[in-house]
Amino acid sequence: MNAPYPWLESSWQRLLASRSRPAQALLLAGPRGVGKGGLALAWAQTLLCEAPLTDGSACGNCPACHWFEAGTHPDFQLVTLQEKTTKEGDTRMATAIEVDQAREAVDFVRLSTYRAGCRVVLVNPADTLNVASANALLKVLEEPPLMTVFVLVSDQPRRLLPTIRSRCTRLDIGLPPVELAAQWLARQGVDDAVNLLALAGGSPLDAQRWVGSGELEERRGVLEGLARPDQLDPVTLGERWKAVSPQTWHKVVYKWLDDLLAVKLQGEVRFNRDFSDVLGRLGKRADLAGLLALAKMQAAEGRTLAHPLNRSLQLQAWLIQYRHVFD
Ligand SMILES: [Zn+2]
Repeated sequence: MNAPYPWLESSWQRLLASRSRPAQALLLAGPRGVGKGGLALAWAQTLLCEAPLTDGSACGNCPACHWFEAGTHPDFQLVTLQEKTTKEGDTRMATAIEVDQAREAVDFVRLSTYRAGCRVVLVNPADTLNVASANALLKVLEEPPLMTVFVLVSDQPRRLLPTIRSRCTRLDIGLPPVELAAQWLARQGVDDAVNLLALAGGSPLDAQRWVGSGELEERRGVLEGLARPDQLDPVTLGERWKAVSPQTWHKVVYKWLDDLLAVKLQGEVRFNRDFSDVLGRLGKRADLAGLLALAKMQAAEGRTLAHPLNRSLQLQAWLIQYRHVFD
């Protein structure tokens, strides 16, 4: 079994080297979209495999591997965010791992194993454990039963309780080298991999997810407005942008402002390389104080994203301020 992604090769080898004495609590930490979840699953399968290959990795053929791949291995427990039904009857993804789920994991590790091998609990994303669930889990993390391995995955490890963090052996996964990630994206049939990768902040899996998600078209719609501050009409554009999801709008605008500031201050574009020329021209013209004020506002808006009171009005006000930056 190979590393799930080519840029994870050295992390994967480090894990394999520890197979005979694996960390009982492993924390895989690093930015989102770099394959930590895939690595955690591959590691779990490897620990459970009953006929490992010479390098120690999972064979993919034994009963344990078959069960694992079918999601039915009795000695594997995944603790993750679950879908919930709201009072209105909508299904929504929970924002936290609930204490019941943590208690279930605790019960699970206290049972004897079914296959007399080891037992793996995977917690992903571990930073969504709430205080109660983290404390419940802590009890078994402090003194894990024999042959039990916990794998925690997080892109915000600082949000974990310090007591949990201190119990874990940490393996940091960084952003992959651009060339390697771009080659991989190209092999997945992604055009314009280098630009897309820059846009995704270097995260290859985010870049891949964007293709075909409609988000790229939305982005283009927003950027085309931003690229022409002299011609934009706040009312028309505010109405049009109303259809864009607030999250996408926020992300796109945030990166655009960041790029304008980067051009102004350092003379280079970080994210929107496909708009380098426009950004180069606008960045030079922009008023620094106005730009900083907008960027600050944008950061503050990130905290209230879910509740736009009057979306088009809000967008219009924003656009008027944006236009002034280039007066
Ligand atoms: Zn196997």
